Amino acid sequence: MTLPSNIYIDIHSHSPSPSKDVITFCSLFHDQSISECENTFFSVGLHPWHIDSTDCKNALLELDRSAQSEDIIAIGETGLDRAITTKFERQKKVLKEQLRIAEKYNKPLLIHCVRAFPEIISLLKKSKVPIIIHGFQGNFKISDELLKHNFYISIGAAILKEIPKHIHALQLIPLENLFLETDESDESIKTIYAKVSELLEVEEKELMTQIQANTTKLFHL
Ligand SMILES: [Zn+2]
Repeated sequence: MTLPSNIYIDIHSHSPSPSKDVITFCSLFHDQSISECENTFFSVGLHPWHIDSTDCKNALLELDRSAQSEDIIAIGETGLDRAITTKFERQKKVLKEQLRIAEKYNKPLLIHCVRAFPEIISLLKKSKVPIIIHGFQGNFKISDELLKHNFYISIGAAILKEIPKHIHALQLIPLENLFLETDESDESIKTIYAKVSELLEVEEKELMTQIQANTTKLFHL
């Protein structure tokens, strides 16, 4: 599939595309299945929030099976989260398994990270597949570290709050490493593109073209 021009790409959401001019990458949780939707690509992953309530061994086997499908274009979201009670070592183990699956099928990995950037970097810096840090809300020192390892950074609706440290970090991310997303927000991806183009002082068209190019490159579309 070639991406049409003049299209907005939402790299991480949990719902299908809302309109013809938006291509959505919809992340399924490990127990959800694909339903055919226009302009929508799917990823699947075992989220750290679900580890304690899941038979992880079976879920990972199932994930390995789903990952073989052409309909699944990435693995995730998965990651590490220090704000939950799930044992950190357990989270790391489950993440490592998903990195293995992503590498086995050569599909990018979508990462959820809360207060665990050093561990994310150390676990994933040698990854053979692209790493996308979704919903990034850190400062420029953290984004700099991520970029050193050529990770990709996705910015979501939090940027609409215009918090100075987020704006500063955004302004230092090369466009070649940038994605935009809605995740669970009710904001439109178009609002996020408009705000980011304003903050970066780049034409929205240029932003759209670059994010399309990033998408084509990472997902072989
Ligand atoms: Zn999400």
